Amino acid sequence: MSTLEIKNLHVNVETNDGPKQILKGATLTINSGEIHAVMGPNGSGKSTLAYAIAGHPKYEVTEGEILLDGENVLEMSVDERARAGLFLAMQYPVEVPGVTVSNFLRTAKTAIDGEAPALRTWVKDVNAAMEKLRMDPVFAQRDVNSGFSGGEKKRHEILQMELLKPKFAVLDETDSGLDVDALRIVAEGVNRVHTETNAGFLLITHYTRVLQYIKPDFVHVFVAGRVAEEGGPELADRLEAEGYDKYVAAAV
Ligand code: ADP
Ligand code: MG
Ligand code: MG
Repeated sequence: MSTLEIKNLHVNVETNDGPKQILKGATLTINSGEIHAVMGPNGSGKSTLAYAIAGHPKYEVTEGEILLDGENVLEMSVDERARAGLFLAMQYPVEVPGVTVSNFLRTAKTAIDGEAPALRTWVKDVNAAMEKLRMDPVFAQRDVNSGFSGGEKKRHEILQMELLKPKFAVLDETDSGLDVDALRIVAEGVNRVHTETNAGFLLITHYTRVLQYIKPDFVHVFVAGRVAEEGGPELADRLEAEGYDKYVAAAV
């Protein structure tokens, strides 16, 4: 059993006008096997939270802690965080021209495990994971995210997660912009990894729709850089009915 603790996190983002405070005391604990949905209006700092966990250099933690099984994540490099078992599926996955999906996945797997995966089993694992995500095998030979549709980018994020087997996965709006078939495939992937590996999940989403397919254990309403309310799955139903207005009004 592992635990990811985010405690009183304050984060500045580097902007053209200097640093701007975005996270203002975010606190959240995730255990292995738990699915936490973080929901909130645009601009509330959800992606900033995701980037701070992953260690993006533009996001400066000014106060608070991130602990993985008691270890100080903030002292780890981006690579060390990945090796420690943290995974981020970005809201806007970046293009990596000249690097095929196949090479990218193998390089990432090698970096995280500290040794190259055995070729035969690896190829089998990749093909099996792609098939489960209903991805055409030719996809593996395309350059990472170059010309990918929105849905292909999100499936590629889930493919990485399936193969890298993180302890904790942060999925930043992996549901956004998907049609209902793609949404179901992506959700099945998350549920499969959840069942097979007992990973913990931080599922960042703007909409409740994905929660029909992925059942969260906990729901956190994120407003103005911190958690404004938390509850069980029933909180998502209330958000669906009431929206975020009352939280936004209370945060001003
Ligand atoms: P969310 O994911 O909840 O929509 P973000 O974490 O992306 O929110 O952004 C939170 C706030 O920080 C927004 O007001 C956004 O404009 C601001 N912000 C984030 N990154 C930058 C940046 N690089 N430059 C300026 N402002 C930024
Ligand atoms: Mg669970
Ligand atoms: Mg975002």
